[in-house]
Amino acid sequence: MNKSELTYSKTNFYEKNSESEIKAAYDYCVGYCEFMDESKTEREAVKTSIALAEKNGYKPYSFGMSINPGDKYYYNNRSRNLYLFRVGTEDINNGIRILASHIDSPRLDFKQTPIYEDGGFCFAKTHYYGGVRKYQWVALPLALHGTVAKKDGSVVDIKIGDELGDPVFYINDLLPHLAKDQNSKPLGTAIPAESLNIVLGSRPIKDEEGGDKVKLHILNLLNEKYGITEEDFLSADIFAVPAEKARDVGFDRSLISAYGHDDKVCAYPSLTALFESDDSVHTVMVVLADKEEIGSDGNTGMQCALFTDLMGAISEELGGNIYSVKANSKCLSADVNACFDPNFAEVFESRNCAKINCGITMSKYTGSGGKGGTNDAPAEYVAWIRKIFEDNGVIWQAAELGKADQGGGGTVAKFIAKHNIETVDLGVAVISMHAPYELVSKADVYTAHKAFLAFCKA
Ligand code: MN
Ligand code: MN
Repeated sequence: MNKSELTYSKTNFYEKNSESEIKAAYDYCVGYCEFMDESKTEREAVKTSIALAEKNGYKPYSFGMSINPGDKYYYNNRSRNLYLFRVGTEDINNGIRILASHIDSPRLDFKQTPIYEDGGFCFAKTHYYGGVRKYQWVALPLALHGTVAKKDGSVVDIKIGDELGDPVFYINDLLPHLAKDQNSKPLGTAIPAESLNIVLGSRPIKDEEGGDKVKLHILNLLNEKYGITEEDFLSADIFAVPAEKARDVGFDRSLISAYGHDDKVCAYPSLTALFESDDSVHTVMVVLADKEEIGSDGNTGMQCALFTDLMGAISEELGGNIYSVKANSKCLSADVNACFDPNFAEVFESRNCAKINCGITMSKYTGSGGKGGTNDAPAEYVAWIRKIFEDNGVIWQAAELGKADQGGGGTVAKFIAKHNIETVDLGVAVISMHAPYELVSKADVYTAHKAFLAFCKA
């Protein structure tokens, strides 16, 4: 055997592919960026995904409906979690192909009694959601996205800050001239959570007695625009997210910066792979989960029984045995990974980390502290994936998050594997994960689509 047959090394997408394939990758990402701009929150991602699904012939499913080969359904779980499935022609006892990603991203949530006035400003108190590095969220333009549910049953959607001409929102930071004490604090404590207060305005209302005139003015404006009062914030999901849209990065436009690549950069390719694999004999299910960033709990998270309830309903309607269906199902836990960053090379183990433009990343295991809290995929399943990627020309790489004992992280993989379903982690490598603007490579996004498509069909 020669050297290239004997040894293994990563493949760079640009070195391997023709100009037309490179153009296909860039073109594919136009659709991805459009999806991102409409899907900053899980509620918006569900809405955008349903619109795409309906365009592709998917119809709403509710429990008790009949299910037949060729049917395409989506199940909207409380507007924050979406399941889509296309029924295959083969025996359902052969299992379901499952692509599971999540559509929630780290952000700042309004507290339940958020609005207050101090020092001539009106602010909103926030409680951060997920693994936020707090120092990154100050002094940048924020948009407010959310839903207010009123006592009369009506629901008001809020989305302000993204469009040209919209006002944006802001969290104050300390000027360097007075930052002597703050500068000597560790990064993790320099910006305390309770200082992440969002500026809503500064103009007092006229002709009112008493204090809190700025707050009163803001409440008046909110009432005029949305018909809500301060009490309505008690039943609201309002999130501050970065106001910026997805943008090309670099002279070669090879990268994309956006809010929430983690994990919409896997959710979108899951959808496009599902829509392009109508000729597959397999039943394919796409899960867009909520609450991954805070542990996958709750009735819209991956740990909710809805996942197996739906598998059970599909299995029963098609005359299958749910135990066989689960035992023979295969899943890709589609979530992002850390991309090697030469500016922080010391946290990576260079032989086992994801490299930019080297394709979608497979992690046999995640977790931390000696594979704690992980689904460590069996060698046999990884070999099966290797084979289908090779057969379909998918450029991919194997990697773990960073150095052992440097930290770690988990995905939804373990919550799926525990149902006796073969599962492995596969996703796009991200630079600056969980920052307000994360960075990914167009080549890597495109290989996610190719990988998921091969999985749906193989
Ligand atoms: Mn993730
Ligand atoms: Mn994450």
